[in-house]
Formats: sequence, structure tokens, C-alpha cells
Amino acid sequence: AESVSHDKEISTYNTSLRERLLYRKQMEDLMGKALKNGEFQVYLQPKYDIETQTIVAAEALVRWQSPELGFLMPAKFMHLFEHNGFAVQLDYYMLETVCQYQQERLARGEAIVPIAVNQSGLHITEENYLAHMQDIADKYQLPNGSIELELTETAFIDYSANDARYDAATIVAQLRHMGFCLSMDDFCTGYSSIAMLQNLPMDVMKIDRTMLLAAEKSPRSLTILRHIVELGKSLNMKVLTEGIETRQQEKLLLAIGCRFGQGFLFARPMPLANFAAFLEKHSIKS
Ligand code: C2E
Ligand code: MG
Ligand code: MG
Ligand code: MG
Repeated sequence: AESVSHDKEISTYNTSLRERLLYRKQMEDLMGKALKNGEFQVYLQPKYDIETQTIVAAEALVRWQSPELGFLMPAKFMHLFEHNGFAVQLDYYMLETVCQYQQERLARGEAIVPIAVNQSGLHITEENYLAHMQDIADKYQLPNGSIELELTETAFIDYSANDARYDAATIVAQLRHMGFCLSMDDFCTGYSSIAMLQNLPMDVMKIDRTMLLAAEKSPRSLTILRHIVELGKSLNMKVLTEGIETRQQEKLLLAIGCRFGQGFLFARPMPLANFAAFLEKHSIKS
């Protein structure tokens, strides 16, 4: 009986592994067509000034509306796209869509807030990354700071492991010179956050939600969070905490001097087409 149940376990395992591999294969077969057909959609989530309860910026987050696979969140496909390199193309698509959106609003005389796009760690190992980013900056001619780039420390760790053309500090300096505003995304989740602070001057520190959850539970974590917020501010960074879901968390952040926040409490990510109306309803801080 034992060996039977053992076989069953193995076959269940094999089936699910096979299914997962098939699913990955299917996504890879579909991704190119999906990009051409506009199946990747830009959602925007507002970033708030907690003190004044106003929208100060937004973050672009990708969603895949696939006729074959349904509506997919990034957790379903981003990992694969990082692995097979497609994330590079997808990120350029997200960036250009957002640039175009900003340009159109400005052309109509409408107010804009900075919009952030996430940058996969793959970009910085690309040989043409800086040239491509300069082309995009030249093409849209947006005011400095209209576009924010969110970078993670993993991007730079992967980078230093590769024999690439530029060092990370050069990349950061060049991107800022082009007028992009730079954010350290998922701050506190990795091991080299402090090294990143030391070597790579950026404009915004985005503290990861896991740090907020830890601070709610333990006084020790709260002390760490308080000092991280202080550290960011001392380095002239805007400090924002991600994933605020409750009034309690909002109060905690205000108490330790974290002025900016993003989370379901304020607003969920929404389709790009709904953002204008949302901005109008909520006051924009100029
Ligand atoms: P991220 O850049 O750290 O984005 C924040 C994630 O937290 C988003 O998940 C957002 O919807 C979610 N979030 C916001 N507020 C709350 C909250 O109050 N509670 C909770 N539990 N979650 C909240 P999403 O949209 O599923 O994206 C997940 C990750 O996928 C992103 O994490 C980012 O790393 C990646 N990603 C998304 N879009 C892109 C993209 O266009 N390019 C690249 N390279 N990565 C992307
Ligand atoms: Mg992000
Ligand atoms: Mg983040
Ligand atoms: Mg995060």
C-alpha cells in the first residue's frame, strides 16, 4: 500500500510539473502576438501624500488581458518574462504608453502627476539601454520628473555579476541626467539596501510592505522602520511606504514621519482610461 501511495504522489507531481511547463510554453507562444495586439494593459495606482491626502504620483502596473488565458496579474507571467528576456520589450511598451499618456494630457493643457514605471533587472545588462532611454526621452520631450523609474536592488546585484558595459552608478547618473526621476523599489527586502543607498543616489525610497507588516508586529521592527524613514529623509529622498491597507497602518506611518504612501486603503490599481476621472475627483497637489 505504501508503494502505491508513493507512486501516486510522484505522478501527481509529474502532472503538475508538466502542466506548468506547458503553461509556460503557451505563454511564450502567445507573448509576441499579445504585445502587438495590445493585450498588455497599463493599470495605474495612485501614490498619496498622507499628510494632505492628495495624489502626488502614480505607478504603472502591467496586466495581461489574454483571450486564451484570461486576465493575468504580473505574478503569473513576469517571472517567466524576466527569464526569457521578454520583460525588456514589455517594459519599453509600458514606458512608451505612459509617456504618450503624459504627452497627450499636457497637449490638452491638463495637469499631470509623475508616473512611475517598473524596470526589470535585465535592462541594465542590455548594451543599448541608455541609448534607448535617451531616444524615448527625446521622442516625448516631457518635463523633467514626469516619468519615474522604479529599480530594485536585485537589478543591481544581477548587474554586478555580469560583465556589462556601464557600472550601476553611471547608469543611475545618466538616467537622472535624461530627466527621469529614480526610485528604489522594494527597499528592505534584499540584503544590499544600504550599499545601494551609499553608491546610487536616487530620488525616492519605496519601503516594501513586508517592512510595514513587521513594524506592526514587533517594536524592534518598528524602530528599524523609523530609522530607515529618517535615513531616507536625511539623504533628501522622498520616502514612501507600499501596501497600506488600514487606517492603523496609515497612523503608524504618520507617527514615524513617513509622508508618502501607496496602497489599497487609498486606491487600487485602475485601468489607465479611468485615471483622469479619478484625478479630477481627488485634488492634485501642484
Ligand atoms: P511592485 O513594483 O512592488 O508593485 C507593487 C505591488 O503591490 C503591485 O502588485 C500592487 O498592486 C500591489 N499593492 C498595492 N497596494 C497594495 C496593498 O495595499 N496591499 C497589497 N497586498 N498589495 C498592494 P502587482 O500589480 O501585482 O505587481 C507585482 C509586481 O510585478 C510589482 O511589484 C513589480 O515588481 C512587477 N511588475 C508589475 N508591472 C510591471 C512592469 O510593467 N514591468 C516590470 N518589470 N515589472 C512589473
Ligand atoms: Mg514598483
Ligand atoms: Mg514595490
Ligand atoms: Mg513590493
